[in-house]
Order: sequence, then structure tokens, then C-alpha cells
Amino acid sequence: MAFLAFRAEESGGEKPEYSTGWQTLEDSDLPAGDVLIEVRYSSLNYKDALSASGNKGVTRSYPHTPGIDAAGVVLESAAEAFKPGDEVVLFGYDLGMNTSGGFGQHIRVPAEWILTKPAALTLQDAMAWGTAGFTAALSVQKLERAGMAPSRGPVVVTGASGGVGSVAVALLSKLGYEVVAVSGKPEQQEFLKSLGASRIIGRDEVLAVKGKAMAKPLYQAALDTTGGDLVSALIPQLLPEGAVSTCGMVAGLKVEASVFPFILRGVSLLGVDSVEIPRADKQSVLDKVAAEWALPGLTNLTTDIGRSELDATLKKILNGQGVGRYRLNLIQE
Ligand code: NDP
Repeated sequence: MAFLAFRAEESGGEKPEYSTGWQTLEDSDLPAGDVLIEVRYSSLNYKDALSASGNKGVTRSYPHTPGIDAAGVVLESAAEAFKPGDEVVLFGYDLGMNTSGGFGQHIRVPAEWILTKPAALTLQDAMAWGTAGFTAALSVQKLERAGMAPSRGPVVVTGASGGVGSVAVALLSKLGYEVVAVSGKPEQQEFLKSLGASRIIGRDEVLAVKGKAMAKPLYQAALDTTGGDLVSALIPQLLPEGAVSTCGMVAGLKVEASVFPFILRGVSLLGVDSVEIPRADKQSVLDKVAAEWALPGLTNLTTDIGRSELDATLKKILNGQGVGRYRLNLIQE
């Protein structure tokens, strides 16, 4: 069957250039797999912007269809666990990296990648969360397992206006935390307050202590989405037994820190991966955001886009100009 897919293509030559556009493909163009799915919604993530722009760390070979998450309906299944008509959700593993992803109206994937959509969540809701939202939830879960609790003091969130950051602010606030949002976008103050941030600070305020081994302890936890210097600067600002979780790298790949905060204040640095964790852990976080962590206000921070807006929105995200979540409706022109 024919379907539309957003394809990233590579020009030849020593310094290849990358271009994108919608093309008509056939199911026979998809890789082998157990389950053929009609994708109704996907969401836009930083990694998609990298894949669409030719980042070989994400996607090795082109032409390629990005889209690291998807929500849709099973069309054909060779796996017992799924039958035509089932509503399903996917995020991570190789989807959209080197396997044709959710920016195509059809995908074919191994059954082990597929999550069952909880009844309380619509396909639209699932992609308002999307990979970024699930990563925010995984970060909160990891920090709580390390001892974070509403009574223990403020929690700081970096990249607060971005996809992971905005959902993290909203979720932490719902759970009763005092949230300090770090943002490079002064014009998004009202947006961040509407998500539940009690205070918004600039990146410079955090970076002021950069290079110091220890600094005044201000936060019980830091939920980092940017990596780099912001993480380095937050480690010495954690309260005793505090923790910082980190999931991203938009601000840099290197973290530099003295061992003092670790050995004198017992702080922890926690990595968060949403991609390769076991399927059961993914299903568990999906079930949680459909129930006790449900965020009815998520629609307020989600912008719906159709196919024609995808290219420009990915470029905005790549330039750090994205705000909140972007959900792609594969049916809408
Ligand atoms: P977005 O692009 O939506 O948001 C990133 C935000 O970071 C921006 O909106 C901006 O927020 C801030 N930012 C951008 N550039 C810089 C900079 N140079 N220095 C400091 N802050 C900056 O991305 P996502 O939220 O979707 O993803 C964030 C990171 O998390 C990415 O690196 C992504 O790859 C990673 N990620 C990792 C996952 C995992 O499994 N480990 C899963 C999902 C995402 P503001 O202007 O408010 O400061």
C-alpha cells in the first residue's frame, strides 16, 4: 500500500548536503518486521532534528525517514500479541534512527518495540507526551528513587522551555514540588509560570559559580536536559544528599566537577536513558502517565502541526528555539 513519508536525503560528494521533503513510498520499501502500523501521530524531538539534518551520530545512512516515536493502529501483525485495529505506542530503540520512523504514515517494526496504549490515554495524548515527555517522567522517577521528595526543597530544571524541560516543570509542579526553571528565553516567563514554575532564572545565574568546587547549596535536585556547563555548575549547588539527573547534550558533551560535592555532600549524578531501557520499563512509565501522573494541562504546552509545517519546526528545534512540545498529525496537510 502507498503512504507518505518525510524523507531526509543526502547529496553525493565529500561534503554532502541534506534536503528533506514528503515522498510517496510503498509498504515494500519498509524494513522487515513483525507488525505494520498506520501512524496517526508522532512528536518532534531534538534527535529528530539531528537525524533530518544529517547527523551521522543519529542516522548512519540516507535516504531516511526520521521520527523516534509514534502512536497509531496495527494494520498487519505476524505477532500473537498484536492484531489489526490495536492502538499502540512506540518510542526509542532504533525507530527513526536507522529504522524508518514515525514521520512516515506507515512503519514496520519488531513486536518487542511496541507498547500497549493504556485505555485512559488517547493516541493524541500519547504523542503530547512523546519521547521528550516520557524522558521527563523517567527523570522524575529516577530522582524520586534517589530520595527527591516535595518536602526536601526546591528542584531546578534546565532547558525549561524545551520539550523535556516543559513537561518536567509541569509534572514536578503537579507532584507538589517547588520548581525553579532555568531558561535562555526571557520572553517565556509567563509560559513557564503557567506550567507551575515558582521562579524563573537565566542560564547566567546558574553558570556564575562555574569552576567552583563548592557553592551555596540551593537545590535538593536538578533535572537537567542540556548537559555541559549547566550540569557542571549545578553539582556544587546541590543540598546534601541531593541528585542531578541528566539526559541531554544541547549545551555540551562534557561535564567537569570537583569530587568535593560527591564526597562532602553525598550528591549523586544520575543518567537517564529512554531509548534502550527494557520494554517493561517503558510500558510502566506509559501506564503511570496515563494514571497517577496524568497531566490534563499537557495540551496547553503542545503545538499541533501538519505535514507542511514539519520541516520549519524541526529547524526551529535544532536552533534551540522550540517551546514546549510539538505533535505531528500525519493525516493533516
Ligand atoms: P528541545 O530542543 O525541545 O529543548 C532543549 C532546550 O534546551 C531549549 O529549548 C533551550 O531551553 C535549552 N537550550 C538550547 N540550547 C542551549 C544551550 N546552548 N545551552 C543551554 N540550554 C540550551 O529538546 P528536548 O527537550 O526534546 O531534548 C533535550 C535534550 O534531551 C536533547 O539533547 C535530547 O537529545 C535529549 N533527550 C535525551 C533522551 C534520552 O533518552 N536520554 C530522550 C529525549 C531527549 P531554554 O531556552 O528554556 O533554556
